[in-house]
Amino acid sequence: MGLLCLSLIFTSGATKKSVANYQVIPLPNEIIAHKSQCFTLDKSVKIVYPAGNEKMLKNADFLSQYIKDQCGIETYTTTDSKTKKAIVLRLDLKEAAPEAYRIVVNAQQIIVSAASENGIFYGIQTLRKSIPTEKSTTVEFPAATLNDAPRFPYRGMHLDVVRHFFSVDEVKTYIDILALHNVNTFHWHLTDDQGWRIEIKKYPLLTEIGSKRAETVIGRNTGVYDGIPYGGFYTQDECREIVAYAADRYINIIPEIDMPGHMLGALEAYPELGCTGGPYKVWRIWGISEDVLCVGNDKTLKFIEDVLTELIDVFPSKYIHIGGDECPKTSWKKCPKCQARITSLGLVTDEHHTAEERLQSYFMAYAEKLLNDKGRKIIGWDEILEGGIAPNATVMSWRSMEGGIEAAKLHHDVIMTPNSHLYFDHYQSIDTELEPYAIGGYSSVRKVYEWDPLPASLTNEEQKHILGAQANVWTEYIATLKHVQYMVLPRLAALCEVQWSKPEQKNYSNFVKRIPNLIGIYKLNNYNYARHLFDVSADFSSNSNDGTVDVKLLTLDKAPIHFTLDGSEPTPSSAVYSDILKIKQNAELRAVVFRGQEASRILKDEILFSKSTLKPIKTLQPLNEKYMFNGITTLVDGLHGNKNYKTGRWIAVYGNDMNALIDLEKSTTIQEVAISVCVDKGAWVFDARSLSIETSIDGVTYNRVAMENYPPMKKDDANGVIAHKLSFSPVEARYVKVMIGSEQLLPDWHSGKGSKGFLFVDEITIN
Ligand SMILES: [Zn+2]
Repeated sequence: MGLLCLSLIFTSGATKKSVANYQVIPLPNEIIAHKSQCFTLDKSVKIVYPAGNEKMLKNADFLSQYIKDQCGIETYTTTDSKTKKAIVLRLDLKEAAPEAYRIVVNAQQIIVSAASENGIFYGIQTLRKSIPTEKSTTVEFPAATLNDAPRFPYRGMHLDVVRHFFSVDEVKTYIDILALHNVNTFHWHLTDDQGWRIEIKKYPLLTEIGSKRAETVIGRNTGVYDGIPYGGFYTQDECREIVAYAADRYINIIPEIDMPGHMLGALEAYPELGCTGGPYKVWRIWGISEDVLCVGNDKTLKFIEDVLTELIDVFPSKYIHIGGDECPKTSWKKCPKCQARITSLGLVTDEHHTAEERLQSYFMAYAEKLLNDKGRKIIGWDEILEGGIAPNATVMSWRSMEGGIEAAKLHHDVIMTPNSHLYFDHYQSIDTELEPYAIGGYSSVRKVYEWDPLPASLTNEEQKHILGAQANVWTEYIATLKHVQYMVLPRLAALCEVQWSKPEQKNYSNFVKRIPNLIGIYKLNNYNYARHLFDVSADFSSNSNDGTVDVKLLTLDKAPIHFTLDGSEPTPSSAVYSDILKIKQNAELRAVVFRGQEASRILKDEILFSKSTLKPIKTLQPLNEKYMFNGITTLVDGLHGNKNYKTGRWIAVYGNDMNALIDLEKSTTIQEVAISVCVDKGAWVFDARSLSIETSIDGVTYNRVAMENYPPMKKDDANGVIAHKLSFSPVEARYVKVMIGSEQLLPDWHSGKGSKGFLFVDEITIN
């Protein structure tokens, strides 16, 4: 497309022509190129909107501003529909979905049509993203028709303003970023243990006392504090201002008051709302507090009614989020008031739920009824399924997709926010040492991009309950807006195609090629973004036919990738990558991209061959589904993991041992088997307890050749990668059974004592 226009690009003197490119993010559903003249945008072009429509005036103003910011061309808005050379915004797509739009580009006009102002806004976003971010006197738009509509009606992003507070202007900047990515819902997490951040007029101490904490822990609950008082809250007027700002950008704000747990902000201010009466302190640390609202207390119920009444006066959202997550029941078990409530309601413990879980359900249903009576609906985190879900609740599935699947089967609406993929407070790179400190986890841009919100295990009918997806940004370790931007961009670009595009259109390498122009807009707006896509990434695949590990190197543009395989630092004179590297012996891969004077971060990886590498392997006991990644062949792929067990290099078992059978394909002399195990004790990820090797010539009769037991881990043992190796007298074998015992009983010093531990292994090497 666009040949007619390409011929026109040149720079001469003060004139600069550039060309629009409709390959934007999210990619429009349909782009039909026409063989006619392009439309030339210059300062003579007017933006036409329907007279008397305030929203369309705002849309026209947005477009005019975007054009000016991105290429410096001034355009004026008008309601004069006879204007010849114009970008015309029209509400004439009557049959379409409200957020759908069509753009028709011909030599005289660009016509943006939709059924509603929302659709026009997304058409404008597409136009804007198609314009290069460089000062130009004209921009040529190739003649074309674009048809587009979102896949999901709910396209969310969340921000926690409790653990760290963000000013009104910062929240507005965040909303601008969401609008750029066609997000239509902002989930605003306003209250938690570390502070209460919204003015409630009937309870002034919530903000006077509850918004402030004395100081903040440094790092991950280290016991060391910064000594700096911390606080901040939004007045109701400020919230209304933000609601209006978001509404202009077709973003609905769902406020969250997290209840009945995560309430220390309120409890210090009004200790009578807790089971013990306090005193309580706004938390200085992270985690889950056992101090929660006393549901046995009528004052608590009144408090919730009052808070929600003021809240819905500020927020017009149909949905109100009432939390429901991470609410320990310990204080309720000891509290006479809570126990009296349990008795009076006749709540009983049975094989499904405890009486206290039912008490939480009673409380959530109480809050739901208050809101339903006022025409609103509730959303809660997936814990609201425990104890029986409130009748009309929408479930936000965060611990995994399982809660969402269960809820959809119960005919409840669901928003998918699984922490495995959509927690943008998680690391986005495997090289965690090079990253700002994060809560943990691992979600690369690619992992976000390739995730799908619709579980295959649901029927079509059940899938209709999945309203969409949302990424969450918890800010324990994110203190500034610049850092928020770094965590969100460009993962949000990947998410926005998950939320908007048709699955059959998604293609990661195509996405990567389309992202530079969007990054141009990030730069223009001074957004801080992660640059990993500018680095080299490597795709490894086991090619057992050729006996090679095939390596594909990738970066987002056409800049040459230089690499070495001997561990030496690549320079501009090192080999240039052109096609898949077929590795058949030990290699230390290094790869880098030079763009002018600027070198990317160097990719470093190692491929290690042993007698078991790329050999057929099968598992003799089930892998843990959550951490099975590419499955059992991971153990013989020649690739090793680092101390982050979530990168896909490690696979796990839980509750059983990791037993595997490797076929060396011919009788082979062997004398050594080595494994490495990843340990992260806080996450219940423990060392192996035993390693045992059996070999066979015929695959029928096995002999044990080596066996070792390992002691249980002690509290002070280090986390990280632990190697185990068994050497034995040389034997001839074709089949090797490797049996790795997992921890079946977490020790008494551990918070999960008595439970089983995860076992993560990355590789089995046989020599
Ligand atoms: Zn109580």
